[in-house]
Amino acid sequence: MKKLLCFTLLLYLNFTHSQNPNDIYNIIEAVSAERIQNNIQTLVNFGTRNTFSDTISETRGIGAARRWIKKKFETISNKCDECLEVFYQKDFVTKEGNKRVPHDAWIVNVVAIQRGTKYPNRYVIMSGDIDSRASNTMNFTIDAPGANDNASGMAGTIEAARVLSKYKFESSIVYVGLSGEEQGLFGGAGLAKYAKDNNWDIIGILNNDMIGNIKGVDGVIDNRSFRIFSEPVPPTETERQRKLRRFYGGEVDGISRQLARYVHKNTKIYMPEMNPMMVYRLDRFGRGGHHRPFNDLGYPGIRIMETHENYTQQHQDIREENGIKYGDVIEHVNFGYAKKLTSVNAINLASLAWAPPAPKEVAIGGVVEPSVKFKWNKVEGAKGYKIYWRDTTSPTWDYCRYVVDVSEFTLDGIVIDNYFFGIAAIGDNGFESPVVFPNKLMR
Ligand SMILES: [Zn+2]
Repeated sequence: MKKLLCFTLLLYLNFTHSQNPNDIYNIIEAVSAERIQNNIQTLVNFGTRNTFSDTISETRGIGAARRWIKKKFETISNKCDECLEVFYQKDFVTKEGNKRVPHDAWIVNVVAIQRGTKYPNRYVIMSGDIDSRASNTMNFTIDAPGANDNASGMAGTIEAARVLSKYKFESSIVYVGLSGEEQGLFGGAGLAKYAKDNNWDIIGILNNDMIGNIKGVDGVIDNRSFRIFSEPVPPTETERQRKLRRFYGGEVDGISRQLARYVHKNTKIYMPEMNPMMVYRLDRFGRGGHHRPFNDLGYPGIRIMETHENYTQQHQDIREENGIKYGDVIEHVNFGYAKKLTSVNAINLASLAWAPPAPKEVAIGGVVEPSVKFKWNKVEGAKGYKIYWRDTTSPTWDYCRYVVDVSEFTLDGIVIDNYFFGIAAIGDNGFESPVVFPNKLMR
């Protein structure tokens, strides 16, 4: 019941101010399965997009693919009064010292920035991958259509850019095609470093890697659920932070986890037909993705992907063996499902870019008292704050209390020992920031 109240309040807030109340629903509707299909088909038609494949040809290889992606972003930009800043961001990798690099090459990402009107240096990022691979990742000439892995994520990113380019946002949105994923997450590492060097204030990265498969290798067919992977706490935390956690909690409340909860909740509210599934781990067991290099530098980042993978259709040469057809071909991609996951991205990019920044400092107190006290720094542009709490065993922020334009508050009758707490900032338009887990103690 309380869970329901928290949700209703958000809807009410969203629908009481200048923002068009239908914006989020319009965004969901505007995402086109057909355009995603066309984008995937074009990417597949480049034969292979192996990071080390041909860069000169206009029809085959990763060079042609990235030029086409750049053109796509530029075309979208032309239609929104040049609202996107489109450029290549690149880094050089060498064969020497890299087991999975067949020859020296530039790792080239295609970046499109939709500049925020109020917070131009705050960024929320959606990523897909340009590159693909066959059975042997070193084989850069054989066909590797990579329809699902990861033309689907790339196609969704282009489509989200098209849809969101019709709107203006307070924070910047970055749409990016990353390269070199299959050989060592090179593209993500390059862009994360670029962001750090340029002092980007990153809200988070939504990394899309395989968003089009609905028939699992186990035979399960499911076009409603998807996974949100997030690591528990940042790898950059200090020894002191680690020690304090033992006494004050936070084992499952890192910045990436809060981003995962944000996407989970927003999906539940606006796309109730979907079943988002939070997975409490960095990525699949022992496997990797392009959100990780961002996490490595202390940025929030999650992986969004299908629930049911099919391993005979990933990283495979196209062939038939014992009656099984191997290969990541377009016939296996479900475009309606890819559209749904693209919509999930688009509404979360929009919500985050329309919301004010989260409070940076949140202090909590209330040891041996019958109430919990909070103090936080006021956020410019926030008209109120939501204090969230949940049972320690719950994955979602189930209870909340809205407070208007204050920077401290006491929750009477709530005992600090029995719950986890957090605070989000709420904008004039009703959109809210991710939740901040307390990072300071008060008496
Ligand atoms: Zn892959």
